Amino acid sequence: MASQADKTMDKLVSLAKRRGFIYQSSEIYGGINSCYDYGPLGVEMKKNIKELWWKSMVYERDDIEGIDSSILMHPKIWEASGHVDGFSDPLVDCKICKTRFREDDIDINKPCPKCGNKDSFTEIRQFNLMFKTYMGPLQDTASIVYLRPETAQGIYVNFHNVREAARKKLPFGIAQIGKAFRNEITPGNFIFRTREFEQMEMQFFVRPDEDEKWFDYWKEERMKWYRRLGLSQNKLRFHEHIKDELAHYAKAAFDVEYEFPFGWQEIEGIHNRTDFDLSRHKEFSGKDLQYYDDQTKERFIPYIIETSIGCERTLLTCLIDAYTEEEDRVVLKLAPSIAPIKVGVFPLVKRDGMPEVAKKIAAELRGSYRVFYDEGGSIGRRYRRQDEAGTPFCITVDTETLEDQTVTVRYRDSMEQKRILIDNVKTFLAEELKF
Ligand code: ATP
Repeated sequence: MASQADKTMDKLVSLAKRRGFIYQSSEIYGGINSCYDYGPLGVEMKKNIKELWWKSMVYERDDIEGIDSSILMHPKIWEASGHVDGFSDPLVDCKICKTRFREDDIDINKPCPKCGNKDSFTEIRQFNLMFKTYMGPLQDTASIVYLRPETAQGIYVNFHNVREAARKKLPFGIAQIGKAFRNEITPGNFIFRTREFEQMEMQFFVRPDEDEKWFDYWKEERMKWYRRLGLSQNKLRFHEHIKDELAHYAKAAFDVEYEFPFGWQEIEGIHNRTDFDLSRHKEFSGKDLQYYDDQTKERFIPYIIETSIGCERTLLTCLIDAYTEEEDRVVLKLAPSIAPIKVGVFPLVKRDGMPEVAKKIAAELRGSYRVFYDEGGSIGRRYRRQDEAGTPFCITVDTETLEDQTVTVRYRDSMEQKRILIDNVKTFLAEELKF
């Protein structure tokens, strides 16, 4: 029997497909495991999430610069970072049902969770999660390159480039949004864990003696961001990594966790990476990556506080948090700032000059917002469709409009309606859609 968590996820997956958020990749060929395509609404929502992250990290501050580094990088970078030797998950297979597990996800002393057989597991093997490919025509070891498993390294190797060009002094950060690839052993839970995903990472370079202060600062800041995104506060928490959980580079780490239908899971990692990364790149590249503090006349390798979040995982979190079933409708109560369509514009009926007025309003709003014009079917059906798409406002042109130049504005969540002047629609939306 399907569990409640499965049922909730099934409903969300089906809505995501029906409304054009997310499709299985290569669907007409039977699909490809754990790869997804983002439809008209999905692509808008992803773009909105990335823009808001960029706004809060780069535009609203004067101590963070942006970068866009390449996916393919010098293979030595992944030796220096520790990924070639250490970026692996322990893997076991059940010899009977052939299911593959991450060893740290199950208790190998118990029967196989899939088929129930005892003592059926293979030896534990380490499986490197990096995707390998070859650069150039020759497929030999000298031409091996990796698809980056995180965007962070592209930031570290550009530390001095950015610092010099932007004339930055510590503390300062570098932000990047980009694709990352991991050959995950057990992808799943829809888009929660996939093999190709986008990361939004910010690396903040600080004096070694100020690392703890900045680590606490970024923990706070990141929680504030989730509040701005409108996520339910009672479903968010920090999880502190105890000594055994800490990655090889980390002095301290906290995950931001969200309570998904399938349990509490990480949505973001905040790490104190110490001087590990720059020291290793200094060692492997032979370049001096120290920072010179002209006030104190000291030379040192900065410490790094990292905030690392997945774009698709954030999107899934927002969809799940927003999904609401009410008596006679399903509604996505998304924060207006991330909603794919900001406003639906409808004529009440398809006559008496109403479509012309409504089209004019829609045309005026386009350019500022993603607008959806719809004149087909009953007004109730049109509202319901926008509720499922998460559109925060609908504007309807009716008989009164023709008399007094006012329209109805309907709020998605409360379904309340009020009348405003056509001339005030733009200011109304600007106010309501502020992040
Ligand atoms: P996990 O333990 O879930 O595999 P991780 O600790 O390896 O994650 P990090 O390396 O800290 O993850 O990555 C930072 C963020 O990138 C994660 O919090 C998550 O939002 C996102 N992320 C990591 N791996 C994936 C993936 N396979 N699919 C989607 N998002 C991912």
